[in-house]
Amino acid sequence: MNFPEHDGLTGLLTRRAFNERAGSVMHSGEKGLAVVWFNLDNFKMFNKRFGFTRGDEILKEIALILGSTFSHDEYSNNLLARFSDDNFVILTDWASVEMNIDVVQEYLYSLHENVTLRLRAGIYFPSDGEDIRASCDRAKLACDAIRKNHSVSSCMFHDGMSRELALQQHILDHLDSAMMNEYITVLYQPIVRLSTGKICEAEALARWNDPERGFISPGEFIPTLEQYREIHKLDIYAIKKVCRDYRARTERGLPIVPVSVNLSRLDFELCDIIREVEMAVMMNNIPRGMMRIEITESINEEDTTVLNLGIEKFRAMGYQVWMDDFGSGYSSLNVLKDYNFDTIKFDMKFLHGFDVNKSEKAKYIISSNLEMARLMGMQALAEGVETEEQLEYLRSIGFGKAQGYYFGKPMKLDEMFSLKRGIETVSS
Ligand code: C2E
Ligand code: MG
Ligand code: MG
Repeated sequence: MNFPEHDGLTGLLTRRAFNERAGSVMHSGEKGLAVVWFNLDNFKMFNKRFGFTRGDEILKEIALILGSTFSHDEYSNNLLARFSDDNFVILTDWASVEMNIDVVQEYLYSLHENVTLRLRAGIYFPSDGEDIRASCDRAKLACDAIRKNHSVSSCMFHDGMSRELALQQHILDHLDSAMMNEYITVLYQPIVRLSTGKICEAEALARWNDPERGFISPGEFIPTLEQYREIHKLDIYAIKKVCRDYRARTERGLPIVPVSVNLSRLDFELCDIIREVEMAVMMNNIPRGMMRIEITESINEEDTTVLNLGIEKFRAMGYQVWMDDFGSGYSSLNVLKDYNFDTIKFDMKFLHGFDVNKSEKAKYIISSNLEMARLMGMQALAEGVETEEQLEYLRSIGFGKAQGYYFGKPMKLDEMFSLKRGIETVSS
């Protein structure tokens, strides 16, 4: 074997060595096995707060706790590995697995009473001779499934997760062909200026209508493409499509409005997204002032420099940059502090269950955030407007623009221009 068998930091097996050894155990026909995938919550944040040295110490400590706890049972063939960062995997005996996980978690809590350290565990019981990599994927899926559920710290794999995994696999396997065959397309949702009631802009939203799977929601394919770092492919495709749709109208001498496109923060790492946007815009003769860039940011990111430089560069070149989904996470206020945006899009959660006569607290929150945006010199746009009542309230407190099903669902670009509401046109 000419690759490192042991991880330099913790001394546990490497992913490759684990896969080889665990693979042969599983193929030998041994029964009653369990694969457990462990991940530490907020490890990135921990490193940021306490430094990498403390981070490394915690990883070593976890390796020791896992090693000592699992070596206590009668089963002596445990295989323990660190796959990457804070991801640990163990192949063990099924009978004592849950009890051992509890022991590990309690021990970790007791050592760090002043910091919340949750070591999440996903459990999978492979059948005879099953593939080790697929078993690890399933254990990981179970582990990911409770990322947002803080009331439990371990979870067993079930078939629903398998469907999710199959969909993820389909998305990753078919992305290229779905773009090539235009199963993925772009629709446009109108944005309305509240002072005139006319459409002043549009947001481009990706749609995937798959011949095998039917409609796949962006809520499914966007997170998958982000997780597997393929999102830039979709975003570049969507930008090119928007530019071509736009050009088709200008070539026919038809009116147009500025269009906003959604970018992932990962695009700034995965490709030269500024160059991609520039090429698409230039090739189709679109003025930069007619394109807006929407970005959702979360504070969990360690390094804000790449994104900040990207935003500033886009703005200096003449593109407006909008902050998407403001208020959807606890991070929003800090994000406003760290970056410069031209417009803030207020997340539709602000309006969820909104009743103008009852929702006093919601009104305070919306109006004070609006005032804050104004003081920072940013424009404000409300997303998710569904009723006349919401619209009137937003208008009364001074929102400039709004978007939502009340004005129109995402539709073909030409269709949007035939809406009765009218367009604040820019002649092509
Ligand atoms: P978003 O950018 O915040 O887009 C708004 C979403 O809210 C859209 O969902 C839209 O259809 C929906 N929506 C608009 N008005 C209403 C309303 O009145 N009520 C309700 N209940 N929903 C409304 P969609 O198209 O499913 O997109 C979801 C998210 O996926 C988008 O959120 C955006 O973050 C992402 N996304 C969509 N297309 C792309 C893309 O091409 N690239 C990237 N990176 N992300 C995209
Ligand atoms: Mg958006
Ligand atoms: Mg949004």
